[in-house]
Amino acid sequence: MVLLNTPEIEVWPASLLRARSNRDARLLARAIRVLRRKREGRYLAAHTSDGLVPMLPSLRREPGLQAAEVALERAHLPQRPGLDRVGELPLTRLRDRLDALGIDETYAGRTGLPLVAEPSWLALAGFDRYRRPLWLRAQAARGWQHLRDAALRDDVVLDAISGYRSHDYQLGIFERKLARGLDVDGILTVNAAPGYSEHHSGRALDIGTPDEPPAEESFERTPAFDWLRRNAGAYGFVMSYPRDNPHGIVYEPWHWCWRGDAAPAP
Ligand SMILES: [Zn+2]
Repeated sequence: MVLLNTPEIEVWPASLLRARSNRDARLLARAIRVLRRKREGRYLAAHTSDGLVPMLPSLRREPGLQAAEVALERAHLPQRPGLDRVGELPLTRLRDRLDALGIDETYAGRTGLPLVAEPSWLALAGFDRYRRPLWLRAQAARGWQHLRDAALRDDVVLDAISGYRSHDYQLGIFERKLARGLDVDGILTVNAAPGYSEHHSGRALDIGTPDEPPAEESFERTPAFDWLRRNAGAYGFVMSYPRDNPHGIVYEPWHWCWRGDAAPAP
């Protein structure tokens, strides 16, 4: 199953979504895919065998609808076997929104973090600890499945806390905190600026192990972390933020990034 990604709208497999009203339930039951606004996950339209059925009255005026319709059309083209080509979405819209927040080039300079484009589609990599769909780039999804299986053969249980996250998701965190009265600099001490998180790439995931709280430094004292440190590299995963990393990001023993396609070090 795949998530089709466009700048403002995501196209989800209908079977992964829950109905939020009786009308939704009837539509979702016969939908193949559902268009969702990325900003807050609002259902926009159901794609059924009869075509696109609006789930809100102003669908035709929805920003980004055309791009989503193009993605839907492409999804019907026969796929060439063995081809996992993943495109990247443009960064224009993100740059405008960073300007509006007053986050400029100095942030990139200070942290040494690059802007991260979103992939044009993501593969279902299973479900996370909270039973939410876990989306990753196709190759990273396979890497994660292999990593998890290998750990299990050594009696180590790994679970996913979080995988792909969109720019809009991160912008939403900022907007909610700003609305509560926090300022941008304050938020940046805890959250990466929208566009600068490795999670946008679909390669990064936060890994946990049962009975251990998510995303806590104590993860480094678990057998799961010990196993990862010894074995994750063989499956293409690298810990992005070790202690005293040059980006000034707090130590994150739970955050791993798939780099299996990177050229080997010379
Ligand atoms: Zn992370």
